[in-house]
Amino acid sequence: RTMRARMAVQSSNAISVAPILTGLKNDCATPLPVLRHVADEMTADMRAGLAIDGGSELKMILSYVDSLPSGNEKGLFYALDLGGTNFRVLRVQLGGKDERVIATEFEQVSIPQELMFGTSEELFDFIANGLAKFAEKEGGKFHIPQGRKREIGFTFSFPVKQISIDSGILIKWTKGFAVSGTAGKDVVACLNEAMERRGLDMRVSALVNDTVGTLAGARYWDDDVMVAVILGTGTNACYVERMDAIPKLQGHVSPSARTIINTEWGAFSKGLPLTKFDKDMDAASINPGEQIFEKTISGMYLGEIVRRVLYKMAEAGALFGDSNSDKLSKPFVLGTPDLCAMQQDNSENLEVVGSILSDVVGVKLYCHCMVKSDLTARKMVVDVCDTIVKRGGRLAGAGIVGILHKMEEDSRGLIFGKRTVVAMDGGLYEHYPQYRSYLCDAVTELLGVEKSKNLVIEHTKDGSGIGAALLAATNSKYGHDF
Ligand code: BGC
Ligand code: MG
Repeated sequence: RTMRARMAVQSSNAISVAPILTGLKNDCATPLPVLRHVADEMTADMRAGLAIDGGSELKMILSYVDSLPSGNEKGLFYALDLGGTNFRVLRVQLGGKDERVIATEFEQVSIPQELMFGTSEELFDFIANGLAKFAEKEGGKFHIPQGRKREIGFTFSFPVKQISIDSGILIKWTKGFAVSGTAGKDVVACLNEAMERRGLDMRVSALVNDTVGTLAGARYWDDDVMVAVILGTGTNACYVERMDAIPKLQGHVSPSARTIINTEWGAFSKGLPLTKFDKDMDAASINPGEQIFEKTISGMYLGEIVRRVLYKMAEAGALFGDSNSDKLSKPFVLGTPDLCAMQQDNSENLEVVGSILSDVVGVKLYCHCMVKSDLTARKMVVDVCDTIVKRGGRLAGAGIVGILHKMEEDSRGLIFGKRTVVAMDGGLYEHYPQYRSYLCDAVTELLGVEKSKNLVIEHTKDGSGIGAALLAATNSKYGHDF
């Protein structure tokens, strides 16, 4: 095409693309009333889920963790962590009150894509095999217990209906997993069978969600930790609840007893500002209609939402000139780390944005003689990223406030009247500064300065592994005296 023709296309693009961006911003807006509504709905759904089983989208799962690590835990313990993208194995030597964590070692591998779509046996064989290889290398600072099996804390980051502290049934897979034959089964039994096949003689003493592991891990160092939130590939939150505030327990409980509730808030959906792009993404997903909050705020999906918006813009007005957008039409080609990299681009011409667009999504912006238009397009792309990330961060903040309100209502003054810590983990919170600050802004806007004063949101890196090992220790089959 001639330059003149290009310029003509470009100026018409500017007109046809702009309304898409404006519409998107409108649909994604999260002013205070929207946040407040989301926080209130979260509180209400929590109550409904605590009242009866199946009473709400929030499962409000009993963790069977009734005592948190005290610091006195001693001995060698293992942890297994099956999350969204990685599989980790860890061993820790606990030294009790004074020595605390004497030594830790861990290994991490990414989960091969094909295992996410394979059979339950394949996945658990992979886990048992990784664990066995790691366990063989035990030595050094680690004291091998005599006459007893190695005990494992198993962090399994999917919705599980716990039956006891060391067993639980997988309700469904999330985060793109579609392993056949696990839903409806006890995942500890699945692991035990795989360990048997591998000739590995270890025992699971605690099965925990990653949020619960994170809470336990953070609590080991800080008594004020009351809530744990994961914002990574997927999202979820758990918190410390009073037993007598859980009607579905239907038991007689001492008024001082506490437990941890795994909310499974990823399934929440009320009052969220959703767009056509979200709805299309959900419809095309392997779990349509499920995990709507997760699909709006977590790392697995933010890049994909942005890709869908950009694709629409490319179609509508050839935002990207005459380059073809074949690659851009491919689901999940744009990852949340790409959005993050683009949002950190401070260069004058947004060079990082340009190179990510050409490398990752295969769109070439206009030739250099058109630097100005290049820049306009690049700025628009960053604007789209920011819109989606802002909505995600702010809604996550509203979710946290929903939990804090629930806790405060049931224990006047015990949340906002003293120091309260929310332990956070996950790549999105850790590595995405804009997301993090949008989240914190929303929390402060909702709570006001006075109430926010005592609230500490703290990053607990990889707390879920140590946390699970600690809970294995707390729930050791061999008692505590060793
Ligand atoms: C799962 C939760 C998990 C969260 C964070 C969600 O998809 O349902 O169980 O805690 O991801 O890993
Ligand atoms: Mg994890």
